[in-house]
Amino acid sequence: MRLDKKVAVVTGASKGIGKGIALRYAQEGARVVVTSRSTDLLAGVVEEIKASGGEALALPVDVRSAQSVQGVVDDTVKAYGRLDVMVNNAGISMVKASEDLSPEDWTRALETDLFGVFYGCQSAARQMMKQDGGAIINITSCYGIVAVPMRAAYCASKAGANHLTKVLAVEWAGKNIRVNAIAPGYIRTELVQDVIDRGFIPLEAIKKRTPQGRMGEVEDLLGLAVYMASDESSFMTGSVVSIDGGWTAYGYL
Ligand code: NDP
Repeated sequence: MRLDKKVAVVTGASKGIGKGIALRYAQEGARVVVTSRSTDLLAGVVEEIKASGGEALALPVDVRSAQSVQGVVDDTVKAYGRLDVMVNNAGISMVKASEDLSPEDWTRALETDLFGVFYGCQSAARQMMKQDGGAIINITSCYGIVAVPMRAAYCASKAGANHLTKVLAVEWAGKNIRVNAIAPGYIRTELVQDVIDRGFIPLEAIKKRTPQGRMGEVEDLLGLAVYMASDESSFMTGSVVSIDGGWTAYGYL
């Protein structure tokens, strides 16, 4: 029970990485608020958590709206009295040649993958400043560290989120608010499956390019997500940690 008595919000918790983090946080004793746009899927996640003895609440959010994100934080505090952990995980992919990227594509990716992360950090910090601090965890991407063709909007958003993590960490360190990021490599979820299915990246190419020779599973991220949320990481802030089977470090063919 490494998160006993903590209250956590996870955005994009209807499926994939966010759902995995929400379920694990509940197993570790946290009361978890699961958020995304799909209320039906969120209801299923809450049911799953409750069925295994945990406590959870579903709240709809569109992370592109600062007001919507602030509403989630306010409702969390109304329900549970505080907010200890904010996981800004909601995200979308955007694969397109840069010369064809429309202003709408660019805006949609930036609004979800970068603005949404900022709104989550800001709303959480406003509450954390009223209490004894807290932990913010941004789920960014190895694409925010290295450059990948056809991903201008996604890479720019994720690079922005990585740097934002560091800026807010140094700005809020004196308020006992820690801000860290996990930068995953390829993790088996709908988001990546979609990119594979559309033929943008063959699965075999992912395996070949990854020194460990496999794709990651959601489970691979959960230990660090718990550590960053728990008091065990109390001297860690402004860190962007890759979990990618060696993908980002690799510089050979
Ligand atoms: P999924 O597509 O499986 O899940 C994405 C989640 O984000 C869903 O819960 C979706 O819920 C939510 N979401 C999307 N847009 C919004 C929005 N505007 N407001 C609220 N929620 C939203 O993706 P993953 O689990 O794979 O990805 C999670 C995060 O991890 C993303 O930020 C992604 O960029 C990052 N990542 C993933 C990698 C991977 O290989 N899977 C690699 C590197 C980074 P709903 O549609 O119900 O709103």
